[in-house]
Amino acid sequence: MQLKDRDLFRQQAYVAGTWMDAEDGASDTVTNPATGEKIGTVPRMGAVETRRAIEAAGFAMKAWAAMPAKERAVILRRWADMMVAQADDIGVLMTSEQGKPLAEAKGEVAYAASFIEWFAEQGKRVDGDVLQSPWRDRRLVVLKQPVGVCAAITPWNFPAAMITRKAGPALAAGCPIVVKPASKTPYTALAMAVLAERAGLPKGLLSVVTGNAGKIGGEMTSNPIVRKLTFTGSTETGKKLMAACAGTVKKMSMELGGNAPFIVFDDADLDAAVEGAIASKYRNTGQTCVCANRLFVQDGVYDAFAARLAAAVARLKVGNGLDEGVTQGPLIDMAALEKVEQHVADAVALGAKVAIGGRRHANGGTFYEPTILTGVTENMAVMREETFGPVAPLVRFATEADAIRLANNTEFGLAGYFYSRDIGRVWRVAEAMETGMVGINTGILSNEIGPFGGVKESGLGREGSKYGIDEYLETKYLCIAGM
Ligand code: ADP
Repeated sequence: MQLKDRDLFRQQAYVAGTWMDAEDGASDTVTNPATGEKIGTVPRMGAVETRRAIEAAGFAMKAWAAMPAKERAVILRRWADMMVAQADDIGVLMTSEQGKPLAEAKGEVAYAASFIEWFAEQGKRVDGDVLQSPWRDRRLVVLKQPVGVCAAITPWNFPAAMITRKAGPALAAGCPIVVKPASKTPYTALAMAVLAERAGLPKGLLSVVTGNAGKIGGEMTSNPIVRKLTFTGSTETGKKLMAACAGTVKKMSMELGGNAPFIVFDDADLDAAVEGAIASKYRNTGQTCVCANRLFVQDGVYDAFAARLAAAVARLKVGNGLDEGVTQGPLIDMAALEKVEQHVADAVALGAKVAIGGRRHANGGTFYEPTILTGVTENMAVMREETFGPVAPLVRFATEADAIRLANNTEFGLAGYFYSRDIGRVWRVAEAMETGMVGINTGILSNEIGPFGGVKESGLGREGSKYGIDEYLETKYLCIAGM
């Protein structure tokens, strides 16, 4: 890897303010999904190292929570600035371990930094309250206090942003945080820990523990010092973690799977809809939880939309994300590739047609051709499960009511998208969609200011935005008598 600052590439974990190996010396190999080559190793840690990180966090919390938010913000702001300044190197690390095109990786670093910057400011606006008292001689006061030691478990698809979206509000609110990054993408997380250390974040407030997910997660969910677990990943793992947290009644935030509907009505601006579908469906090779998973297109524009989308998909460039002009990297691993293959095979067996793509890419490895399926129906796996790959299944529908029924016919409810220029329809469909977020005439909606999160089995809580810091605060009521 070509890095300007080689010190950002760490093969040790950052536990309790110290760079270290696993107690027993065990390690895991990290590979580049575009080439299959080994990048390096990281420590394979477990419960012992996680406990050490949690205990150090509990100790570090006292001074950090007592520090004025304005002073915490200075350190956090410095950390955010350093991320932006090192976006080139972190981008190279991220593309190498995750596969996304370098431009997307650098974009993610800026996006990741925006959460630290935003919450550093929001921390200053955590205000208490004085309520109307029903008694003459008493006063009712509300304090907002940090929830306590937080633990975060994060996925590989956004190796930087999924960490800062949690660490930003936690630290700004006065809480330390112990992070378990995804085992496929630890180097981005460790590079950010290097920068946190350089920014002057006191030891123990941020730990990055790499290794055995079950053992690290087991300690995080059972240790009573941890008061909050924040997770982004699959619904299946999220449910297990929720059950594990029940024993110590932890606060939880869950950003889980999606099955985003993307509806194109007859009155849509078709060029805009095609552009939005490309952005929403094929970004990160279809590996985001808000990627359009089911595309519903109204009768009157179905054929025209399919043709224009196919022309746009034909212009996508598949390859190693470090190569110039590449827009589509590899899938993360073989299991991901096989899931995409199975979804396409199942759809074709049940009558769908491949308009473009539909097979492994000539590059080999885990590359898959950007694909469009037409004639898709509700009984196919692509409709029920998150494909997490570059496959756009197009379903034909007749009426607005049909579209809403189809869109909501899933246990998931993260993002939804639709294209229409009729103001009445815009309101009706936006209100009827059972999702936490709705993109209207756009395929991209994430930023640090909008509240990100899902309903139904897509999760609990919101990240980013002025609401996001509440997830890291407790409300304490004071009833003051004897005046
Ligand atoms: P994905 O499909 O994004 O890998 P997962 O839910 O499997 O979704 O993984 C998200 C994160 O959760 C990763 O960091 C992974 O290592 C972690 N993880 C998976 N299983 C467990 C578990 N049983 N306990 C704790 N963490 C887990």
